[in-house]
Amino acid sequence: MDEFALIRRYFASGGAARGDVVLGIGDDAAVLRVPEGHELVVTTDNLVAGVHFPVTLDAESIGYRTLAANLSDLAAMGAEPAWALLAITLPEADENWLERFSRGFFRLAMQHHVALVGGNVAHGPLNIAVTAHGLIPAGAALKRTGAQPGDAIFVTGHPGDAAAGLKLIQSGHTDLRHACVQRFCFPEPRIAAGVALRGVASSVIDVSDGLLADLSHLLEGGNIGATLELAALPLSADILRMETLGAAREYALSGGDDYELCFTVPQNRLSQLDAVAANSGCRVTRIGTIDAESGLHMRDANGVVRGVNPAGYRHFS
Ligand code: ADP
Ligand code: MG
Repeated sequence: MDEFALIRRYFASGGAARGDVVLGIGDDAAVLRVPEGHELVVTTDNLVAGVHFPVTLDAESIGYRTLAANLSDLAAMGAEPAWALLAITLPEADENWLERFSRGFFRLAMQHHVALVGGNVAHGPLNIAVTAHGLIPAGAALKRTGAQPGDAIFVTGHPGDAAAGLKLIQSGHTDLRHACVQRFCFPEPRIAAGVALRGVASSVIDVSDGLLADLSHLLEGGNIGATLELAALPLSADILRMETLGAAREYALSGGDDYELCFTVPQNRLSQLDAVAANSGCRVTRIGTIDAESGLHMRDANGVVRGVNPAGYRHFS
């Protein structure tokens, strides 16, 4: 199977059919139509075997996660996904692997009406890069900057589950019936929550490196800080079944790969949060407050406040 047969067989069909794709896979480049009054939101992420996922991870999960990481970035901007490009470098044209990879990729693409409009295939060490394009009404994009003292801090879903799931996978427990394994392999990008947060959130980020690490990005350049309430962390029943309370909190604060949204909301817009929660299809939990002084703090279950170090995963460190 050469490069072109491979593209035809595994990638040329399978995503959403969209009327705004003027020209899709097959030409030198895709031609796409941005609707009147909208802006294009673009992001790219690559997944490297052994760095972003264990080399032995099921290819269906690899295909799904490589798109999920990009859709999560679009969610954090409040954008609706539209189109994707897929550049894949493969050590071999393993048909079983490709079939599972494309099944995972297209399952998520269909869920979010994403059309695969192009890409590239090359021979080499496994590395998968996706570029995703989303649409948003002009001027409505959500940003990392904008939080003000007094704003409430929220997180969607159950941070920590994916990192706990990765630990299970690394020790050989890959059964998807375990909810934490499921959440690592098939995280749900919070597209509906991002859309619902337009005009409500003062700042948004998606949690890929860990809650503390990503929250600290919302504080950068604003001369602001944050105090988190340890007891408010929305730990899932699933993580508490496998970990102590202390370990579960550690996963929730510092584990990566959750692809939840962390966001801030001004006091005078808090009443709009019920609608956000109702429209996002996931739990939304208040976990803290933005402070007028810089620094990240944590109030423990006894009410004692301490400074915390937001170290998350950093490449090259
Ligand atoms: P070119 O050499 O002009 O870059 P290619 O031969 O690499 O074109 O690709 C042929 C067509 O197939 C292009 O439209 C390209 O976007 C598409 N394509 C290549 N690889 C993929 C892939 N992994 N997924 C989807 N489309 C792909
Ligand atoms: Mg090419």
